[in-house]
Amino acid sequence: MPLAQTATTVPVVVDNALCITNKGCTVCVDVCPLDVLRIVETDDGTKTAYMKYDECWYCMPCEANCPTNAVIVNLTYLLK
Ligand code: SF4
Ligand code: SF4
Repeated sequence: MPLAQTATTVPVVVDNALCITNKGCTVCVDVCPLDVLRIVETDDGTKTAYMKYDECWYCMPCEANCPTNAVIVNLTYLLK
């Protein structure tokens, strides 16, 4: 599975300001059937979810189940 290069090149983007994984949330990581999302510690010591592997089924549970709407799945043109 290819490693994601940067957060802006992958289809699933997490708004770090909205992500509450510092409070223990790992919902998006837990619900992804492909297991491509991870939690990472950022430079300022806070944590956030992000897409580690650039694979996606566009099945949407990560976005649908995030309690703060921090996850955005950018559907490809052909899937819209
Ligand atoms: S479900 Fe939302 S709040 Fe929870 S870890 Fe994922 S992005 Fe962060
Ligand atoms: S849309 Fe589906 S496959 Fe893609 S990151 Fe979210 S849960 Fe995982």
